[in-house]
Amino acid sequence: MPKSVEEKKKMRVVVIGGGVGGSIVAYSLQSVADVVLIDQKEYYDIPWASLRSMVEPSFAERSVINHIDYLPKVQIIASSATNITDREVTTEDGQKVAYDYVVIATGHLESAPKTKAERLNEYKADFEKIKSVNTVLIVGGGPTGVELAGEISFAFPDKKLILVHRGPRLLEYIGSKASQMAMDWLTAKKVDVILDQSINLNHLNGGIVQTSSGETIKADCHFVCTGKPIGSSWLNESILQNSLNIHGKLVVDQNLRIRGHKNIFAVGDITDIKEIKQGCVAQKHAHVTAKNLKILMNGESESKMATYKPGWEMVIVSLGRKEGVAQFPLITISGYIPGKIKSEDLFVGRTRKQLGLNPYLDEK
Ligand SMILES: Cc1cc2nc3c(=O)[nH]c(=O)nc-3n(C[C@H](O)[C@H](O)[C@H](O)COP(=O)(O)OP(=O)(O)OC[C@H]3O[C@@H](n4cnc5c(N)ncnc54)[C@H](O)[C@@H]3O)c2cc1C
Repeated sequence: MPKSVEEKKKMRVVVIGGGVGGSIVAYSLQSVADVVLIDQKEYYDIPWASLRSMVEPSFAERSVINHIDYLPKVQIIASSATNITDREVTTEDGQKVAYDYVVIATGHLESAPKTKAERLNEYKADFEKIKSVNTVLIVGGGPTGVELAGEISFAFPDKKLILVHRGPRLLEYIGSKASQMAMDWLTAKKVDVILDQSINLNHLNGGIVQTSSGETIKADCHFVCTGKPIGSSWLNESILQNSLNIHGKLVVDQNLRIRGHKNIFAVGDITDIKEIKQGCVAQKHAHVTAKNLKILMNGESESKMATYKPGWEMVIVSLGRKEGVAQFPLITISGYIPGKIKSEDLFVGRTRKQLGLNPYLDEK
């Protein structure tokens, strides 16, 4: 007798990386597949909320979410993936996890601790550090450096802030108008922005450091915001080594499958798709991938699979809790409108809702 759909053994989908993209894939498939999530840590730390948590640690209670809270049906392995063969994924703690399908979502390498409690303590330690000093040095003028400067200047308007950036303008990944708006906002808040100079942090001596042009900076503490490396080095010796481009990104087709591998998908920042790498984009990839996996697992024709095409791009960089800079396709603006869209809640309620959680903590 043919097995009913319910009786059929569920396919095993292994999702590697529990960040913005991986969390959505695992959440979307947990009822229809035997899902295993492999992540370096036990929790999802909403990346764009982390800088607020450094100046207001209680914010992290909502934005650091244990995977188990939104993935009750998923087996969670809190360990790094170290290799992948055509049958299984190996983890740092020695497990070998067999798969029917794999989704690679290891966007960026984290140096974060394993548990939520440890992560919350880190935020508290950052907060205490910032609170106790007079001068803070921020190294890097990309979105992380700019948003951190915004958060500190909002929460601690009396602190002296120095931001040093290697390039000729802030936020170089978007247009120069947005850069200028961010620069104007920061200088209006008396942040000392130093462009075209770098810092060798190995030569930080009693809080005194020299920039590449010989300028001396004295700061009581510093934060390095120079961007995290792409999380693909673990693939260098794997069956996917030839699927990495020279930037360490995975080459995917229009269905988000890795070229030449019919049962391996990739989503998020690790893909080679030409677009601004953003969480909202990783979430779109995740939805396309989950849809395609459902089609394949149901035995439907591959021709039914959804395709992914980059759409119009919107970037918002928050500046404190009420303002921001937004680059839309035809216009770039700053002030309270971007602030209203992003800076007030940093999309935390919305992100929690997408994972079936109460936007404001407690019950689901
Ligand atoms: C300050 C800041 C502000 C931002 N603001 C926005 C914004 O407003 N809107 C927006 O859309 N985007 C924003 N982004 C960008 C967004 O955060 C990234 O594009 C997004 O996180 C990419 O998602 P991802 O799933 O590809 O990777 P990530 O979210 O980086 O997740 C990768 C996961 O993989 C894990 N991992 C890595 N290597 C391994 C391994 N070997 N084994 C197991 N696990 C591994 C990591 O621990 C992590 O959990 C912002 C980023 C920053 C830093």
